[in-house]
Amino acid sequence: MSDPQPDHTLLTPGPTPIHPAALRALTRPMLGHMDPEVFALNSEIQAGLRTMYGAAEGTFTALLAGTGSLGMEAGFANLVEPGDEVLVCTNGSFGARMAEMAGRYGAQVRLVTAPLGQPIDPADVAAQLDGVKMVAVVHGETSTGVLNPVPQIAELMRGSGALLTVDAVTTAGMEPFDMAGWGVDYAYTGAQKCLSAPPGLAPVAISERAFARFHARRTPTPLWYCDFEGLRDYWDRHSYHHTVPVNLHYALHAALHAALDEGLLTRQARAAQIGQAVQAALAPLGFTPFVVNPAHRLPTVLALRLPTGFDDAGVRAALRTRHISVTGGLGPTAGQIWRLGLMGETARPAPYLTLLGALEELLG
Ligand code: PLP
Repeated sequence: MSDPQPDHTLLTPGPTPIHPAALRALTRPMLGHMDPEVFALNSEIQAGLRTMYGAAEGTFTALLAGTGSLGMEAGFANLVEPGDEVLVCTNGSFGARMAEMAGRYGAQVRLVTAPLGQPIDPADVAAQLDGVKMVAVVHGETSTGVLNPVPQIAELMRGSGALLTVDAVTTAGMEPFDMAGWGVDYAYTGAQKCLSAPPGLAPVAISERAFARFHARRTPTPLWYCDFEGLRDYWDRHSYHHTVPVNLHYALHAALHAALDEGLLTRQARAAQIGQAVQAALAPLGFTPFVVNPAHRLPTVLALRLPTGFDDAGVRAALRTRHISVTGGLGPTAGQIWRLGLMGETARPAPYLTLLGALEELLG
C-alpha cells in the first residue's frame, strides 16, 4: 500500500482526522503500563472523561482497549444476566446492534422502534418499563443522522429501577452530555469519533448504581477482559489486569484535553455551524435532509437524501480518486443517502470547501 495523501480529506462519520496534538503524542517514547507516569496520565484522562460525560465527582471512568463496539459489549456483559428484561430502542443499525448484543448475553430483549429517520418516542419507552432491568438507547444514531431524546427518556424512567445505558459514540465530546443530571448509568464512546483520537479505545463512564447491579450478579461476567472490577483494579487500585495500549492513551489524553480546552459548547456550535453551511451549499445540487424535522437532527452527522438519478457509487469513487472520502447510507439507507461527519476535526471549513469544489467540478 502506498502512503495515504498527507492532505486526504476524510469526511466520514468516523473515524475522523487525528487531532495534531494527538498525532504528536502518539510518537512519545513507550513507557510500561504500570509506570507511575502512565498512572498519572490515566488519572487525568479519568478526570477529563468525567467532565466530558457530565458525570458526578467520583464516578468511575476508564478506557477500554477496543473500539466503540467494545464499549457497547462491556455494558451488556457486566450489567445483564440471563433472563433479564432489557428494553432496547432501535431506530437504526446501532440500536439493532445493541439488541443483538443484549440477546447474546442472555437478555429477554424487548424493542421500542421508530421509523428510519425519526427519533424514539419517550412515551413508547415509558409504556413498556414494567419489569425492565435496563433501557438501552443510542444517543446519536449514525446510520440515519437522528438525535434520540435521551434526557426525556431518562426523565420518564426515573424511579423505575431500570438502569439506563446510553451509546454516546457520536455525541460525547461534541454534544452536551449530562450523565449526572439525566441519570445515565453506563455511557460509552469511541476515541476516533468526536475526540479525533486514533481508533482503538472506548472511553466509558459507570455509575455507582451500575456498580451495585454488577456486584449483585449471581455469576461473574463472561467478558473477563472488561470486568468492571478488573478495570477498577488497574485504573483506581493500580494493579495489573491487562497491558493497556499506552501510546493510544497518550494520544487520547492530548485529544481529550484539546477538546475540553476548546469547550464542549464551542465544539457543539462549530458542528452546527458547519453542518448548516454544508446543507445550504448542497441544497442547489438537489440534496435534501433525510431527517425531516430539524429538531431531530444529529448535529454531528449530516444525513442527506441524494438527488434523483444521482450516481452514488460513481460519484463517491470519483471523489476517492481526488483523495476525498465520503460515506453513503448503511443497511436500508444504502444508495439513498450520504452521511457527512461533523465530529471533532471533521467539523472544519477547509475539508468541506474541498468537497464542494470537487463536486462542482464533477457535477457542475
Ligand atoms: N455506536 C454508534 C452510534 C456508532 O456510530 C458506531 C460506529 O460507527 C458504533 C457504535 C460502533 O463503534 P466502532 O465501530 O468504533 O466499534
